[in-house]
Amino acid sequence: MFNKVLIANRGEIACRIAETAKKIGLRTVAVFSEVDTESKHVSLCDEAFVIESSTPLESYLSQDKIIDIAKKTNAGAIHPGYGFLSENSEFAQKVEEAGLVFIGPDFKAIEIMGQKDAAKKAMSQAGISTIPGYHGDNQTDNKLMEEAASIGYPVLIKAVAGGGGKGMRLVKNQRDFLTLLSSARTEAEKAFGNNRVLIEKYISSPRHIEVQIFGDGQSAIHLFERDCSLQRRHQKVLEECPAPGMTAKMRKAMCRAAVTAAETIGYKGAGTVEFIVDGSDGLKEDRFWFMEMNTRLQVEHPITEEITGIDLVAWQFDVAMGRPLEKKQKDISMQGHSFEARIYAEDPNNQFLPDTGKIIHLNFPLNVRVDTGIRTGDIVSPFFDPMLAKIVSHGKDRSSALSNLKKALKETEIVGVKTNLNLLYNLTQNSDVKMGMVQTGLIEENIEKLTGQNSISNKAIIAAALSYFAPRADHFSYSHWIKISHKIKLFVGDKIIEIELSQPDVNKVQISFDGEAFNLVFSKNHWSFEGNPLPKSKKFDDEIIVFNGGQILFKVQNPYEVPKETKFETSDILSPMPGMVSKIYIGNGCKVLKGQRILSLEAMKMEYEVIAPNDCYIKTVNFEVGDFVQSGTKLCDFSEV
Ligand code: ADP
Ligand code: ADP
Ligand code: MG
Repeated sequence: MFNKVLIANRGEIACRIAETAKKIGLRTVAVFSEVDTESKHVSLCDEAFVIESSTPLESYLSQDKIIDIAKKTNAGAIHPGYGFLSENSEFAQKVEEAGLVFIGPDFKAIEIMGQKDAAKKAMSQAGISTIPGYHGDNQTDNKLMEEAASIGYPVLIKAVAGGGGKGMRLVKNQRDFLTLLSSARTEAEKAFGNNRVLIEKYISSPRHIEVQIFGDGQSAIHLFERDCSLQRRHQKVLEECPAPGMTAKMRKAMCRAAVTAAETIGYKGAGTVEFIVDGSDGLKEDRFWFMEMNTRLQVEHPITEEITGIDLVAWQFDVAMGRPLEKKQKDISMQGHSFEARIYAEDPNNQFLPDTGKIIHLNFPLNVRVDTGIRTGDIVSPFFDPMLAKIVSHGKDRSSALSNLKKALKETEIVGVKTNLNLLYNLTQNSDVKMGMVQTGLIEENIEKLTGQNSISNKAIIAAALSYFAPRADHFSYSHWIKISHKIKLFVGDKIIEIELSQPDVNKVQISFDGEAFNLVFSKNHWSFEGNPLPKSKKFDDEIIVFNGGQILFKVQNPYEVPKETKFETSDILSPMPGMVSKIYIGNGCKVLKGQRILSLEAMKMEYEVIAPNDCYIKTVNFEVGDFVQSGTKLCDFSEV
């Protein structure tokens, strides 16, 4: 038994765990990196300790320091959350050896499931079907290529130590095999210090369906499935529960396989068994295969909580305290449908590179669950995962849950960093998503439509113009004697709109652009246009944002501003994102060829290689490994060849 828990994580999941801990009467200890001193998770816990380390990321990975803090503060248990140390068997073992409780399974279970090849072997021995493939020790190029040919293209190369979609390559034909093998190995070596791979049949029309399980060390129960097929680069974006089109037979077969997987390894606590499903012909009991087991709480656990009414973190604490689970399998049922949308700080119009900055305005919807670790004024730094918040909706059926999500996303306002909010909003309107025809390629196949500039309605332009002329719509400086008339230019996407406003009466405004005039009327405390209210909009310095299902950004041209001289030549080598210089491949005075790597930048667990825009001589590299650069910073001086 313990009455105090140390939460070895940050962001939304640390906040999530702290909330349940409080509810059940546990005291909480936060740990944090120096850059997180002011963060929400620190303020939510009863005690908080900084971990000094050479990089912010390392602080949350400092096994011994974290265990020391737990001992010093008399915390009897450590909850690792997800990511960081949650699937590190060495850490779990050290925690136990220190006489503390690790909130998760036994370290041996983590070890078995941590390697995709070992996990697949154990599972197929237990009678669970795994995807046809090669999981052997012989790792020579020839052997792997031979196996790929006998499996039949397309195949997937996967790092055995993989996670988060890293070290994974889809190979469509033999011609590309060796090139892709070598890049998978390099990425795996870099990310996991292990370049071993396995080869798998690539399932066409794939769906990702996973089952939430809970074990007490001997027996296990399931909490139904989640569909996580809506992904980008093998990373989940939108999840739902239950899976669309799920039949009673299929659910029974999948949940049974998941429970068997857990019981085979004597699993204790919360876990998720992931399956890949061939969805080309509906859901069929013989068309799902074990993919991997995540031995921790999953990012998308809230949707299971929404439909079952069970607090999974409370159950984790129960199991860790040796208490029996509060419910038996027959007592667990599901109600309605739930969706989760992950909001990331990233720029969908610039290769989804992560973005950083200060959150200057934040508004979350009121009638849905929102799990987040950020508040207005917080800095989104380049050191960690770019997930900002999870919007979780519920409804009596799928279509009402989806429309609740759409409404909630429309009400979500985040200003200060670029986000994928428009993409998420557009996804809720995609016809395949609406019909439940989800599969892992959907986002990539529709990427242009999903990320394109939403059509800009006249209403949005009117709302933008209004918030410029009168930040508070009801406070126009109307005068009977002076005829008010204003002009501005707004930039939106690649369009310039010249707008004129005049006010013929105290309760009337006319806004004209593109040769048309629109008459607005002020009544019941707001301006409306043809009887309809206008979308919400807000002005921030020289930017105006209209919140109208996704956010539309307008830039105001200041009539007195002298156009800035462009600082750099377009061919300059600029940093495409804020981040840390992690590698430099060339020296001063080097000649490089167009496309050659110059240096690597790292931010939010993502690596970006800066390449030469042309054949050129590098005069000087302006930074050293370890330096932080802002987006748009000139990384090198070069001269043309
Ligand atoms: P899931 O199915 O739960 O998304 P993944 O294996 O893709 O599983 O990754 C788990 C999650 O853990 C990621 O989505 C990410 O948000 C989080 N995560 C992983 N590593 C880190 C890290 N170093 N810092 C913060 N979060 C992390
Ligand atoms: P990770 O550990 O990186 O999460 P997974 O093995 O769980 O790796 O796979 C991640 C994603 O890759 C899956 O959710 C799915 O979209 C896709 N995927 C994995 N295996 C296959 C396969 N055999 N065929 C088709 N898609 C697959
Ligand atoms: Mg996975």
